Amino acid sequence: MRSLDDTIAAISTPLGQGGIGLVRMSGPDALRIARRLFQPGRSGDRAWPPFRLRHGFVVDPSTGERVDEALAAYMPAPKTYTRQDVVEINGHGGIVPLRQVLQLALREGARLAEPGEFTLRAFLNGRIDLAQAEAVLDIVSAHTEAALRLAVGQLGGQLSGEIRSVRERLVGALAYLEATIDFAEDEIPPQDVDSTLDEAADSLASLVRGADQGIIYRQGIHAAIVGRPNVGKSSLLNALLRVDRAIVTPIPGTTRDTLEETLNLDGVPLVLVDTAGIANGTADAIERLGVERSRDAALRADLILLVVDGSEPLEAEDWDIVQMAERRPVVIVVNKRDLPLAADLEGFLPSAPRVRVSALADEGLDELKEVVLDKALGGEILQSDGILVTSVRHKEALARALERVRTARATLSAGLPADFVTIDLRAALDALGEITGQTVAPDMLDRVFSNFCIGK
Ligand code: GDP
Repeated sequence: MRSLDDTIAAISTPLGQGGIGLVRMSGPDALRIARRLFQPGRSGDRAWPPFRLRHGFVVDPSTGERVDEALAAYMPAPKTYTRQDVVEINGHGGIVPLRQVLQLALREGARLAEPGEFTLRAFLNGRIDLAQAEAVLDIVSAHTEAALRLAVGQLGGQLSGEIRSVRERLVGALAYLEATIDFAEDEIPPQDVDSTLDEAADSLASLVRGADQGIIYRQGIHAAIVGRPNVGKSSLLNALLRVDRAIVTPIPGTTRDTLEETLNLDGVPLVLVDTAGIANGTADAIERLGVERSRDAALRADLILLVVDGSEPLEAEDWDIVQMAERRPVVIVVNKRDLPLAADLEGFLPSAPRVRVSALADEGLDELKEVVLDKALGGEILQSDGILVTSVRHKEALARALERVRTARATLSAGLPADFVTIDLRAALDALGEITGQTVAPDMLDRVFSNFCIGK
């Protein structure tokens, strides 16, 4: 476990040229270091007023040379992001001045912060739980407003509160069952443990049920655009993105690298992968393009947009592709609807929804988006007021907790001794604790916080 006793520092704004840039410090030495390298504009002002922006200059204490003009704030513990003393220095947003300010802080005794270490300290000092810490990362990386709303709710403690109330039920049941082991029946007032466990299981089941949808809102859907050469895959990608990034060419198979772009589909980030691929001139490579590359991409995708050229009869390759696409959710896109329909789609994966579009004329695209969204969310609309689990890690822990509660319930009904039930209840509590961070597996924190950037 990383130490909490030293003072960490990092540049907390993205590196580049910006209006301002922020160097943040947290730890017991933050104020001492700030006093060394920050010279207030009004001289003689020794006391540092807390929670106020102060104008002044960052000065190299060894030479007295000014490094930048800045605004600095000192925030004393415990009402800060990390619950430690925090100092933020807002300088000009350039790489060189920010690096210099950071270097000075390091020279004066701070240590460079690890990725996510400020948020880790907030968690370790008990200001937020682990689910809330993860929400911080989700806010930073949200692709859509819907994803942002969910993350802000999670940071506000929506999920944590729900888990706390399930935990309280289980703890109550556990305490009662343990009492029945230690004391005679008539010494303790009876409790309806059955209903308590049923209620807990209901809450957990509803969280697990919504999780797939929540995960989609946070992570997005990876959709692969597949089809034989020249059916209009790149044109479709372009039309959907309305950005002319793919090179559209009338020569079959001679396109470019696989492209990936994110589209906002009513709040769901849709990551589109165009599989047209690289042609390196050999017949083999061109052969590979249609079927093999499509297969690779299709295997990784959550959803397949299978494009066919509606203006021509289907070819053997179309049938090959549809065969390998069959095992994943597929939407058939019948392109070139501005031309007369010549493709006979009888028996061509009849279970998949079909949309006729013209990538060239921008027709049918809204309908296609609707069908894709419907397919991705299983026909459900986001419940704006419900709590939605948005992480695979949380879903897995919830599912484990649910299973243990159900087992406990069954054991209880079978009339087995209370010891058998308490084992499962404890395991359920542990699983729930993994979400909030009360039970922490050794490598779990590293895994969660390694996804953060430095300075967060
Ligand atoms: P890809 O190889 O599947 O990526 O296909 P492209 O997007 O490169 O398109 C192949 C050819 O079909 C190009 O000449 C496009 O202009 C043409 N094309 C694409 N979409 C349409 C469409 O909706 N209607 C018509 N008439 N032509 C299209």
